[in-house]
Amino acid sequence: MSIIGKKIVTSYFETKQVNNIKTRIMNNIDWKNLPFGYMKTDYNVRCYYRDGKWGKIETSSSEEISIHMAATCLHYGQEAFEGLKAFRCKDGKIRIFRLEENAARLQSTCRGIMMPELPTELFREMCIQVIKMNERFLPPYGEGASLYLRPLLIGTGAQVGVKPANEYLFMIFVTPVGPYFKGGFMANPYVITRKYDRSAPLGTGVYKVGGNYAASLRAHTEACAGGQYACEFYLDAKEKKYIDEAGAANFFGIKNDTYITPESTSILPSITNKSLMQLAQDMGMKVERRPIAIEELATFEEAGACGTAAVISPIERVDDPEMGTSYNFGKEPGPWSKKLYERLRGIQLGECEDVHNWNTVID
Ligand SMILES: *Cc1c(COP(=O)(O)O)cnc(C)c1O
Repeated sequence: MSIIGKKIVTSYFETKQVNNIKTRIMNNIDWKNLPFGYMKTDYNVRCYYRDGKWGKIETSSSEEISIHMAATCLHYGQEAFEGLKAFRCKDGKIRIFRLEENAARLQSTCRGIMMPELPTELFREMCIQVIKMNERFLPPYGEGASLYLRPLLIGTGAQVGVKPANEYLFMIFVTPVGPYFKGGFMANPYVITRKYDRSAPLGTGVYKVGGNYAASLRAHTEACAGGQYACEFYLDAKEKKYIDEAGAANFFGIKNDTYITPESTSILPSITNKSLMQLAQDMGMKVERRPIAIEELATFEEAGACGTAAVISPIERVDDPEMGTSYNFGKEPGPWSKKLYERLRGIQLGECEDVHNWNTVID
C-alpha cells in the first residue's frame, strides 16, 4: 500500500499483501481458547426481499444495520435464524456441514412465521461468499475451533397492525468459535424446569425463531444462577410428563445399544440429532424416536444434549428439584457417545469418509 498525500492507492496485489499481513496478525489469535462468542470479522453478506422478490447479494464491512422503527421484527418477532459451521480440514479444503439441511430448516421456519422462503441456491451462494471473504478468520486445522455462520432473516417492512411485513433482510455474518470443551469432552449437570415452558405443543417450538429464546431466557438464567447447572431442561408443556429438550440442544438417551430421542411437536429439529441418528444406525445401533417419559431417564446408560455448538454435550446428571429426584449418568462420557462424537467430528474435518454427502467442499 502506498500513501500519496492523503490518497491511499491499493492495487489488487497490494491488497493481497495487506491481507497476508493481517493473516499473520490474526494468527496471534489463541484459537484453542476462543470462546463461543462474537468476534468482529471483515465482511457480512446481505440480501433484501422487496416487491415480491429477492435482490442481489450485497457485501458489507459494517456490523450495523439500519431498519425502520416499525419493522415487524422489532414488534411482532418476525425473526428467524440458523447456525452452521465451516471447518478447515486436513486436506486444506474448507467444508461446510449440512448446508442444505440448514437452508431447508430456514424455509420451514419461513413458512411457520409467514416470511418469504429463501431459495437454497441463494443460501448456498451467500454461505460460500461470506466464508471466502473472511477466510483469515477460519481457524486452522487441528485447533478444535471452527468458523460459525449465523444466517438471520428479519421482517424490515413497517407495519403497525399485526400482519407479515412486505420487506425482509436476510444476512449472514461469521465469527470464529473455539472448541466447546476446553478441558476435553466433558459431562455436565442439567436441571429440569417445571416453572417455565419454552414452547407450546402447537406453537413455534419447531421453528428456529428468536421468540422461543426470549421465552427461555428467564428459565435459563435461573437454572444457571447458582453455578451448579450447565443448562435448563424442558418437559412437554401440556402434560409435564415427557422430555422435550435441553435449552438450545436436543436430548438423546442410550440403552441396550439403542439411540432414543424424543418425538415432540414442541422441539426444534436439530440437524446434529438427525446426523447422530444416521450415524447410530450406521454403527449398528437401533434408533427410536418416540415420547420419553421422565422416569425413563433412570434406565439410560448414557445421555447427551446435541447441537451445532458442541456436537454432543454428555449429560452427567439431570436433577428434578421440585420432585426431589435426580438421574445420574456419570461424569465420564459413555462409549457410544464418544464414538458418535468422534465419527461426526471426523466427517466435519474431512478425516472420515462423508458417505452421506453432508459436506459442501470449498476448494
Ligand atoms: C438450534 C437449536 C438446536 C440444535 O440444532 P442443530 O441444528 O443441531 O444446531 C436445538 N434446540 C434448539 C431450541 C435450537 O434452537
